Amino acid sequence: MENFDVVIIGSGPGGYVAAIRCAQLGLKTALVERYNSLGGTCLNVGCIPSKALLDSSEHFHNAMHTFTEHGIDLKSEPKVNLKQMIKRKQDVVTQTVGGINFLMKKNKITVFHGHGSFEDKNTISVKHDDGKTTTLQTKNTIIATGSKPASLPFIAINKKRIITSTEALEMTEVPKHLIIIGGGVIGLELGSVYGRLGAKVSVVEYMDSIIPTMDRTMGKELQKSLKKNNFEFYLSHKVKEVTTKGKVVTVKADDSKGAELTLEGDYVLVAVGRKAYTENLGLDKAGVQTDERGRVHVDAHLQTGVQGIYAIGDVVRGAMLAHKAEEEGVFVAETIAGQKPHINYNLIPGVVYTWPEVASVGQTEEQLKESGVAYKVGSFPFKASGRARASMDLDGLIKVLAHQETDEILGVHMIGPRAADLIAEAVVAMEFRASAEDIGRISHAHPTFTESFKEAALDATGKRALHI
Ligand code: FAD
Ligand code: NAD
Repeated sequence: MENFDVVIIGSGPGGYVAAIRCAQLGLKTALVERYNSLGGTCLNVGCIPSKALLDSSEHFHNAMHTFTEHGIDLKSEPKVNLKQMIKRKQDVVTQTVGGINFLMKKNKITVFHGHGSFEDKNTISVKHDDGKTTTLQTKNTIIATGSKPASLPFIAINKKRIITSTEALEMTEVPKHLIIIGGGVIGLELGSVYGRLGAKVSVVEYMDSIIPTMDRTMGKELQKSLKKNNFEFYLSHKVKEVTTKGKVVTVKADDSKGAELTLEGDYVLVAVGRKAYTENLGLDKAGVQTDERGRVHVDAHLQTGVQGIYAIGDVVRGAMLAHKAEEEGVFVAETIAGQKPHINYNLIPGVVYTWPEVASVGQTEEQLKESGVAYKVGSFPFKASGRARASMDLDGLIKVLAHQETDEILGVHMIGPRAADLIAEAVVAMEFRASAEDIGRISHAHPTFTESFKEAALDATGKRALHI
């Protein structure tokens, strides 16, 4: 029996960051992970491998479509070497996971590989692959067990032709026709990878817009851009049947008027969201409750109904994002150490790593309308940016929503080149409660994509954009 101040179950970005912060604060910390590889969904089958493949496929796309215009002639037409692309992706994962192993050692965190579960509120058993069990005694526990892909009740995912994101990161061939159920983040990012490599991509989405939870302008613009890149969209379609025969998969869906759509392809990617993962965790033995969606129920301090047991990341309410999980990991570690931390959930940015990228922070226009807040809109298209013209990245725009009277920025939504990085300026501005005019009066280096944020802010503050 080993004793700890904190035991963390799950080593994703929530769990491993919580472990580091606990150790920094002088707490004796253990991290339990059932796989051999640390880092959770994000490092192994999520954020990192998907971005590695997005980058590789973007290089291929550019070699095929933009090099000639840039004045670069290749001796022969580029070819996809998918095996090498997947190998490089795996190398990136291995190196990143290696970094987490190093950080655990550096911070003197004890790592146990095995399935963790509660025996009671202060006792965690870790069942190892060899059948042996280690028992840990702890004052505090952080549940950071993350999430798994969700599916629809009538779909049997066979991991061969009917696949989830995990298999889509390990393909052995480029699909001829990839059908994607769900026009959310996973569907559009992984669809972009294979669309750029030459697959025809069909997206069947239940709502009347792709990325429907983001500001609606973003979905409209992204749809226009992706259509140029082998994508077809079937919006307001409810999938009702998915079957497979040999190498052919068939998806049937009804549109809002009841008309039937039938699509045939060689792979179906099911990307309809993710669900909290609490299997065999022994929550009942510790007295921990879950909510109506199977997520661990927590209060405003991320504590469950049981004192000393906390939960963070995808397994609790809120956005399923790595950086949200990380913030919550730090929050709980500091709470356990007696501090009074704070997370501003309104200012957690969301990013879709397609090209153009989409990034967003704060309120959407739809949310402002619904809550009756008086607002004004400013926008600036990338086609008016000298920097965007130089790099031939002309799709997209930046939209700034500011309060009608106070001019405070309430939301920033952007689609365009490097939006994933540009959004950080909007997050900082909003964290310091900047007005649109504040941004309009700050010098932005020329020529950069950031000037477009300044211009959109000037447009919001009184139609004062300078370059349009
Ligand atoms: P996870 O990362 O899911 O980690 C949970 C860990 O707990 C796992 O390692 C699991 O094995 C372990 N575990 C579970 N139960 C037990 C148990 N009983 N005992 C021991 N260990 C256990 N988010 C972003 O912010 N940006 C992105 O670009 C992004 N891209 C993504 C791409 C894809 C394809 C996917 C699927 C997700 C992506 N996400 C992205 C979401 C992101 O991966 C998650 O939000 C994040 O990983 C959640 O972190 P977490 O620590 O809560 O859980
Ligand atoms: P999502 O919630 O982003 O998208 C799921 C989509 O499927 C929605 O648009 C929904 O309307 C649609 N849908 C649901 N049921 C349907 C049905 N029966 N028929 C057709 N469409 C249906 O979920 P996801 O794309 O699976 O991603 C899961 C989570 O992973 C997300 O919460 C996301 O935050 C996270 N993630 C983040 C990133 C990133 O930050 N870049 C990347 C990948 C995943």
